[in-house]
Formats: sequence, C-alpha cells, structure tokens
Amino acid sequence: MSVTSTEWWDAPAASPADGSEVLGAAGVGRGGARDGGSSEVVVELAGVAKTYPGGVDALRDVALVIERGEMVAVVGPSGSGKSTLLQIVGCLDRPTSGVVRLVGRDIASLNDRRLSVLRGETIGFVFQQFHLVESMSALDNVAVPLIYQGVRLNGRRERARAALDRVGLADRVSHRPSRLSGGERQRVAIARALVTSPALLLADEPTGNLDSQTGDGILDLFRDLHRDGATVVVITHDRELAAGFPRIVTVRDGLVESPHAPSGLSGVRT
Ligand code: ADP
Ligand code: MG
Repeated sequence: MSVTSTEWWDAPAASPADGSEVLGAAGVGRGGARDGGSSEVVVELAGVAKTYPGGVDALRDVALVIERGEMVAVVGPSGSGKSTLLQIVGCLDRPTSGVVRLVGRDIASLNDRRLSVLRGETIGFVFQQFHLVESMSALDNVAVPLIYQGVRLNGRRERARAALDRVGLADRVSHRPSRLSGGERQRVAIARALVTSPALLLADEPTGNLDSQTGDGILDLFRDLHRDGATVVVITHDRELAAGFPRIVTVRDGLVESPHAPSGLSGVRT
C-alpha cells in the first residue's frame, strides 16, 4: 500500500474551488469534522421522523449520534426503515420533521445546493448495486467525486489511483466494470467513496449482491478502513455479521434502538 492511514483520514480535505464561498464556515464550530478532539459528533439526529407520500411512517422520533471514529452496524428486518435512516444520516433526503446536524451544521439552514456540496465533502456512499458507470474505467469511476470538488485532472487521477491501491486494486485501474468480478466492483465503489477522505462512510447492504466469502472480504476492508481512522456505518440484514461490530443500532418498524451511547453520551445534546 502506498498510502498510509494518516494520509487518508487525518489530512484536511482538499479545498474545493468554490467551497469556501459556497459553504462559509462549514465544518468549523461545534461538532465540525476538522476541529480535532476525540469525541467529535459527525452526525446527529434528534426527533427525526420521515413520512413518505402515501402516508408510510418510515421513521418515527429517531435520536442518534454518530461520533468520529465509530464503526456501527445497522440491523433490522426488511422494510423496518434502515435505508431511510441511512438516507437521512447521509443527507440524501431531508426528514419530514426533526433536526439533522452534519458536522455541526443544521441541514435545515442549507439550501439543496449547499447541502449537496457539504454532503460531497463529508460523506462517502456505498450501495448494494455498486452504481458504477460502465463506459468508464475503474480509475475514472473513482475520480468522479473529485470533479465536484474542483480537483484538476492530474490530481484526480493521482488520488483515484491511490484509492484503488488502498482497496487492493492497483492492477485494475483501466478495467471497465464489466471486466471486474462482483467483489472487485464493490471495491471500486468503496474506493470512490473514500477518494474524498470523507468524515463518514455509509454503506447500505454492501455485501447483498456478493457470495458470502467475497462479502466477508468487503467487511474486512471496512474494518481495515475503520482501523485507519474512518467512521463507518454499515447496514446489514445479517445479524451474525453485525455481531462483530463495536456498536449495533437496531431499526424496528421505524423506531431506532441504540443500546449504548458512545463516549458516555447519554443522548443528543441540544
Ligand atoms: P429497509 O431498508 O429496512 O428495508 P426502507 O427504509 O427501505 O426499509 O423502507 C421503510 C418503509 O418505507 C417501507 O415500508 C417502505 O415500503 C417504505 N418506503 C421506502 N422508500 C419509499 C418511498 N420512496 N416511497 C414510499 N414508501 C417508501
Ligand atoms: Mg434497505
């Protein structure tokens, strides 16, 4: 591996070309991801509910705090609200009611454009279906998020190469997704998620399309990334897999049970 842990997770993220103008003091202040300190809150949900059109109450009165450096498994039956929770935690969707703070910013105070910039800087997503672009090489797929951060082509390629190296695919940079195995495709998707050195890695059933041995390898990779300093939240319906995680959050019928709060936090601070 040519990239060390500190380079990945402790270096300040590259300044986006228009980031300072768009975001102002994003990431600075209470809970900011770049403040340093041992118990930073990366994301915080308080009284969050999500009702879909048609009246499905997918989440009800959810309180959740994810601190920097945590590794969390989210479990629960199909239809319980896990993906909805991940979409709210990842700010891909806004709650119907309640407060979501991402690196200290109340997302209600951000318009959609500012929120998408903050999300792009802060969060890396991995999905069950990989969502790679077939017409692009592994390298170019991984480099995509850096386009939105204003990183120039040479810098994008260099960082994408390092990210592919980090997931063990240094020798697959020019392959198209169709020429990769399922496990390799998911590794490319993970490289794309971590190329921006996000404060939070979110994965929704990342092993759902893989055989169990390949899936175990993907889980091991998340464990490695966590050991290197990444904050990781992984949805899985596999309770056995989840048992190996330091923290388990259970979703049941839209309600979230999180038996222990990390670092002595008793709940959401207001
Ligand atoms: P899980 O990931 O645990 O399977 P989801 O978060 O996908 O659960 O879904 C929770 C509930 O919300 C389910 O009843 C589901 O049918 C419903 N739901 C999810 N997405 C939508 C949507 N876009 N529109 C309407 N209902 C939805
Ligand atoms: Mg789901």
